[in-house]
Amino acid sequence: MPASKRDYYEVLGVKRDATADDIKKAYRKLAVQYHPDKNAGNVEAEEKFKEISAAYEILSDPQKRQKYDQFGHQAFGPGTGGFGGGGFEGIDLEEALRTFMGAFGGGGGRGGSIFDDFFGGGGRAERGASNRGADLRFDLEIDFEEAVFGTQRDLTFPVMDECKKCKGTGSESGTKRETCPRCKGVGQTVSSNGFFHVRQACSMCGGAGEVIRDPCRACRGSGRARARRTITLKVPAGVETGSRLRVAGKGENGMRGGPSGDLYVVLHVKEHDLFKRRDEDIYVQVPVPYPVAALGGEIEVPTIYGYAKLKIPAGTESGKIFRMRGRGLKGVGSFGNGDQHVVVMVETPERMSGKQKKALEAFAAELDDSNHPASAKLRKKAKEFYSRRDTLQKG
Ligand SMILES: [Zn+2]
Ligand SMILES: [Zn+2]
Repeated sequence: MPASKRDYYEVLGVKRDATADDIKKAYRKLAVQYHPDKNAGNVEAEEKFKEISAAYEILSDPQKRQKYDQFGHQAFGPGTGGFGGGGFEGIDLEEALRTFMGAFGGGGGRGGSIFDDFFGGGGRAERGASNRGADLRFDLEIDFEEAVFGTQRDLTFPVMDECKKCKGTGSESGTKRETCPRCKGVGQTVSSNGFFHVRQACSMCGGAGEVIRDPCRACRGSGRARARRTITLKVPAGVETGSRLRVAGKGENGMRGGPSGDLYVVLHVKEHDLFKRRDEDIYVQVPVPYPVAALGGEIEVPTIYGYAKLKIPAGTESGKIFRMRGRGLKGVGSFGNGDQHVVVMVETPERMSGKQKKALEAFAAELDDSNHPASAKLRKKAKEFYSRRDTLQKG
């Protein structure tokens, strides 16, 4: 067994019966410890970061966790639609970073900066580019129909945008930035202490590698200003609650002309009255008139694509589920459609006229036990129970 296939519970250091909260806590602790921003150039830490992210992705999702408990790593092997087709080997750093965003973004609300809490408010030191703008998370609620068929939405959120006065350069008069005399443009200083070399962001330029002689008075040289940004987001068809869409470069603007962060939109899909979704399958509860359920027939069933006919065999009971192949939806990146499952609910007639009642009474008079095998079976079982009880009480 390769080291990468370690037990996911072991990876996160939690018990098998750990609560969702325990798992999240354990993941957060480890993720902050092994985050690449804190371990620049440390390949082992990056591998570890990916491993704990893979473990968290599975164990934080109740359905995936159940699958994992039942089948282990095989549940997510090639071709099962698991993690990028493989176990944790399949997870790349970008995916792992997205997991990180998801686990930390929750409390921030709309458009909050995620990394501030964990990296000392200095913005995110994206490997090599400490002046990169922070990534943002936006939680977007959409309707069921929008999730199924895709939609377009305008999002407005507060952001650190380019300073209008200096056009993001951070310089008052437009003078060029100069190479930082302290770090010679590297953006980092290295101090050694015995065997250890400690790299730190340069204190003079804050890691930018450049300094400005005459900082812009509006933004104090940062090149940024608070603003509201509106973007048009294209939501692809088939998304579901928890789907994350990355909009590159639409996060906070970088410092002093640095690269912008990304915007991550996390989707929440509203429940629908009629259609329930599970993965690519749709579930719909359909009332069937009593005579149709008894005699058999054809009913009209709503699907997300319009009405469709469904054959009901004679003697259909309430709760019976019929599958309509291909009438489900197409998930993001899935081939072909899911199915629709129709849950039948036999509808008893209400508010009958005198004539109807008479007809039904005449019909009832014709019935015997063979028409109602379930009732006959129940009476038989109850009789057996009472007879056994009576024997015990006598003895
Ligand atoms: Zn400015
Ligand atoms: Zn410097």
